Amino acid sequence: MTPSDLDFDARHIWHPYTSMTQPLPVYPVASASGCELQLENGATLVDGMSSWWAAIHGYNHPQLNAAMKQQIDRMSHVMFGGITHQPAIDLCRRLVAMTPAPLECVFLADSGSVAVEVAMKMALQYWHARGETRQRFLTLRHGYHGDTFGAMSVCCPDNSMHSLWKGYLAENLFAPAPQVGFNDDWDERDIVPFARLFAAHRHDIAAVILEPIVQGAGGMRIYHPEWLRRIRRMCDREGILLIADEIATGFGRTGKLFACEHAGISADILCLGKALTGGAMTLSAALTTRQVAETISDGAAGCFMHGPTFMGNPLACAAANASLSLLESGAWQSQVQGIENQLEQALRPLTGMAEVADVRVLGAIGVVETRRRVNMAALQQFFVERGVWIRPFGRLIYLMPPYLITSSQLEKLTDALAAALQRPELFLDA
Ligand code: PMP
Repeated sequence: MTPSDLDFDARHIWHPYTSMTQPLPVYPVASASGCELQLENGATLVDGMSSWWAAIHGYNHPQLNAAMKQQIDRMSHVMFGGITHQPAIDLCRRLVAMTPAPLECVFLADSGSVAVEVAMKMALQYWHARGETRQRFLTLRHGYHGDTFGAMSVCCPDNSMHSLWKGYLAENLFAPAPQVGFNDDWDERDIVPFARLFAAHRHDIAAVILEPIVQGAGGMRIYHPEWLRRIRRMCDREGILLIADEIATGFGRTGKLFACEHAGISADILCLGKALTGGAMTLSAALTTRQVAETISDGAAGCFMHGPTFMGNPLACAAANASLSLLESGAWQSQVQGIENQLEQALRPLTGMAEVADVRVLGAIGVVETRRRVNMAALQQFFVERGVWIRPFGRLIYLMPPYLITSSQLEKLTDALAAALQRPELFLDA
């Protein structure tokens, strides 16, 4: 890569959440394998991000590669309208088998945000088919569900700047975020505002949508399972649908295959993405119950009104099948448990440091919430110089490495994180 390539990048290519006038530096990656990213300049970085929750088996995995190569020689894509194929059937069969029994109808989509759009549309069409006008979603502050407009309308209003889209964005209902942490004693008062909002709008709410147990991009908050049990009960009582967005939490990240298992509940609509393909391809899914699917199908529209071009992409399905086979071997459980133990030991003692507001660990997720906002560019550079890839944002420095990370690689990540907290110049004044 030449300096002019990087100039071109800075001048012409949008990166996620960046400015075209003041782009943040980007680091050219030449290749990635196992738990490491190789930079163009020859440096090797231990990956602490799993490419935003996705690469649970690390990079360049031989089984994922072999499955995709085999599929490419048959067909990398074919439309899904009027056509079906083995990779999609195998994948959906697996998804139906590995998720709670009531979830048995699968819609394949192409990204997490689209799975959320699909889930919301299912809920709206469900009520339409029942002849009831219900067009509001109830959710939690600090949530994140994607960047498309439907998904944004249920993202935390502050983080996703709802004021920017006022007049355009659907106005949904936001309950205060859970305060009782995963390991705290349950406190009945925590859910009272949610319960009040639920009761006041119970005739308007189409569905409750939330990220079970771990609120990801909206604050990396980890909350008490009792929240989910209560919400499930409230929804059951009123016949309101519950949408679980497990796009980030699914496939073992929290120590259970799906985060809903921490509470022993099942959703009426489940969104999956990210790690579905082990991070090798973009693919997502929204699963629902036969009752919801049949109600929609027997409604005025006579079908579910969605059908993206790349729906059920065979190459992505092949990657997903390989990823799920790896999970089926069961090794992830001890790997995630090992990561959790090591994160606890390494991060918990940071609690008393001046820059640290809170430390949270669950499964293969370790979060340090800082008191001051991070200087993103400076902190990123600091980490790269220490041979680790950690991408902080706001007041959050967090680790969610591939499950196959070794303990010495994980130590490198936690050491770098701890070292950063000793450097006040890497944080911005309020
Ligand atoms: N839901 C959750 C919980 C997510 O974490 C994300 C992605 N960070 C999304 C939805 C959106 O997925 P995508 O970026 O693939 O559209």
